[in-house]
Amino acid sequence: MGQCAGVKAKGGRCTAPPLPGEEWCYGHHPNYADKRRRNAAKSHKTRSASPEIASIKANLSELAVDVMGGAVDRGNAAVASQVYNVLLRAIGMELKVKEVEELEAKLEELSEAFEQQQEARRHGA
Ligand SMILES: [Zn+2]
Repeated sequence: MGQCAGVKAKGGRCTAPPLPGEEWCYGHHPNYADKRRRNAAKSHKTRSASPEIASIKANLSELAVDVMGGAVDRGNAAVASQVYNVLLRAIGMELKVKEVEELEAKLEELSEAFEQQQEARRHGA
């Protein structure tokens, strides 16, 4: 029944259902505030060590979607990969993080996906 008594960060009443027998949802209940903070701190740790890496990650994911959807051609994708590779190497020199290696692996996967797509097109057409 009812609505959470909390207010959303952007303003406006929280529309989540409250916890059973309580006035607030999990996100707003004062008893859970500590736990929420701990969870937030934990997830923060697993996030990117560098904002640059975070944005490259986001761009790569977008690129992957575009490539799979056929919105990006192989030439453009190859150039983009090269640029990302150079960028990652530069960042990697500053930060010796595992994340850079993971991204490099992801780039390799992407390159393979480009190849496969190109192959499929050659045979399909
Ligand atoms: Zn709420």
